Amino acid sequence: MNSCNFREENLSGTIINYYIHCKRQCWLFAHRINLEDNSELVKLGRAIHEEKQTQEIEIDNIKIDKISDEYLTEIKKSDADINACKFQILFYLQKLKKKGIDRKGKLEVTEKRTKSKKIHIYELNQETEQELNDTKKSALELLNQEKVPAYTRTNKCRNCAYFLYCNI
Ligand code: SF4
Repeated sequence: MNSCNFREENLSGTIINYYIHCKRQCWLFAHRINLEDNSELVKLGRAIHEEKQTQEIEIDNIKIDKISDEYLTEIKKSDADINACKFQILFYLQKLKKKGIDRKGKLEVTEKRTKSKKIHIYELNQETEQELNDTKKSALELLNQEKVPAYTRTNKCRNCAYFLYCNI
């Protein structure tokens, strides 16, 4: 793919999540500047991912942690950026809807230390779908920019896989 020829079909749940979380992270990830292998957080995420793989279902290139008659469920290790998780789930719900599968979204956050679980429920309705479509449009505009967005240090940077990259 031309590095600045992103289209709707190039978007993924992770890209939408990163777009909400950090525009620079979104751009770097989508342009395959991938430093995530070295991050402890990503290793933890991968361990959780491997643990749940027996249940994981793939539909139309999206990997869903769990699906029931009522819910599509996404499992995360942290709800530090709950809004990013919400839009990732809405993105999946819309993909399913386009295939004639209507579900609500459920985010399960398992706190590693206490093993406590928090549940958040999302629905794709007229309002949230419009928000999602606006977000997808803005994400594509960002990804089709030739230059990576400038680095601005925030609290989010502390645990980011790109921390060293951004601070060279
Ligand atoms: S270190 Fe900060 S600015 Fe850089 S990609 Fe990560 S969150 Fe974004």
